[in-house]
Amino acid sequence: MTQDDDRVPGDQAARQLRERIGAQFGRSLHIRTLDTGSCAVCEQEIRLLGAPHYDLHRLGFFFTPAPRHADLLMVTGPMIRAFGVAARKTYEAMPGPKIVVATGACALGGVYPADPFVHGSAGEVLPVDVWIPGCPPSPLALLQGLLVAVGRLAEKAGGLSFTADDPTGEEAR
Ligand code: SF4
Repeated sequence: MTQDDDRVPGDQAARQLRERIGAQFGRSLHIRTLDTGSCAVCEQEIRLLGAPHYDLHRLGFFFTPAPRHADLLMVTGPMIRAFGVAARKTYEAMPGPKIVVATGACALGGVYPADPFVHGSAGEVLPVDVWIPGCPPSPLALLQGLLVAVGRLAEKAGGLSFTADDPTGEEAR
């Protein structure tokens, strides 16, 4: 990537992301998305990051349907109560260290108040590490949120000890 890349909006954040992932992990990171009752537009924005225009894969991110392969959980929607158990099981199936990213105003709790059908935010069910606002978040906001998430994941990974008695990484969650 050259200095010319920074002329494109969002590419500075993209360059920082790629450098940080390469320096801190030396491998790609995998994202599991979780729709907990969204209108699907936040999901679409996340998926568009993988299209050629933003080309999220060049930064070292890939989407996975398998929670056991995932480093990051990107949650959209207001967390309908019927989805709470499945959301928790998805999170628990991920290996540590892991990051939860609440994505969009619904997941942040800014659209639906809690009622008998909706928890009202992802944070009511999951331990959210990073919050990305917007309805939906812009691609640049998503990239910047992922940059924060990578930093947070690196902090958690730094707490891992491969000689400790905790091979599950539970202590680093
Ligand atoms: S934050 Fe907006 S775009 Fe995203 S799921 Fe909610 S209503 Fe849809």
